[in-house]
Amino acid sequence: MHWVPVAALSDNYIWLVADDEGNAFVVDPGEAAPVEAALKARGWTLRAILLTHHHNDHIGGVFDLVRDHDVEVISPLDTRIPYKTQIVGEGDTVVLDAPRATFQVMEVPGHTTSHIAYAGEGFLFCGDTLFSVGCGRLFEGTPEQMLASLDKFAHLPPETLVFCAHEYTASNIRFALSIDPDNAPLRRRRDEVARLREDGHPSVPSRLAEELATNPFLRVDSEAIARWAEAHGKEHATRAERFAALRQAKDTFTA
Ligand code: ZN
Ligand code: FE
Repeated sequence: MHWVPVAALSDNYIWLVADDEGNAFVVDPGEAAPVEAALKARGWTLRAILLTHHHNDHIGGVFDLVRDHDVEVISPLDTRIPYKTQIVGEGDTVVLDAPRATFQVMEVPGHTTSHIAYAGEGFLFCGDTLFSVGCGRLFEGTPEQMLASLDKFAHLPPETLVFCAHEYTASNIRFALSIDPDNAPLRRRRDEVARLREDGHPSVPSRLAEELATNPFLRVDSEAIARWAEAHGKEHATRAERFAALRQAKDTFTA
């Protein structure tokens, strides 16, 4: 399987995935034009669209793509998402014929109430739920919901490739280092991301194992995060309270 990050809008990645015959699917096309250009450049044919949530930077290109291609549009149940042909939810399996691929659907509320993710083939398409070294903002869900969603990801195989939808890694790392400054894998990731971005490369996908070692939002049970919470007057906090405090600190963080 081949995958390409299609840069769109200001900092979105639309993931385009194809087999050797050029049968492709796309995840969260916030824009159509860069997807069309990427397909054309490779001679690929679009067969399916997978959507994670209703935000316009993830679905804005769907109308143009369904007009010009014969595609399935796989989506969570949400009236705010038009043009869907197949609605999926927790425990459903998405089976694509071409490219041949199977994904398990996970309901992952937090960023939005109907947000879903697709896991399979060693890939995780997590939309705006998990970012590299960060997580999505809580627009519609509670900290408890978001934490439960991230916990689901944490149980996937550690070698899973995490395909998030935004290039937020460098600023996420600045926040993570402010919480967890002595984390050696995190410091290595900072240096790696600095090199990648300097050379004009995306910082994602990352491996789940690396996220488990570096991402503060996946590390609420770690000693480092417990120490940070304690230093912020939360010595008896539950893990959900530690998560909520982290998310709130990130919302107001300026490097
Ligand atoms: Zn979003
Ligand atoms: Fe987004």
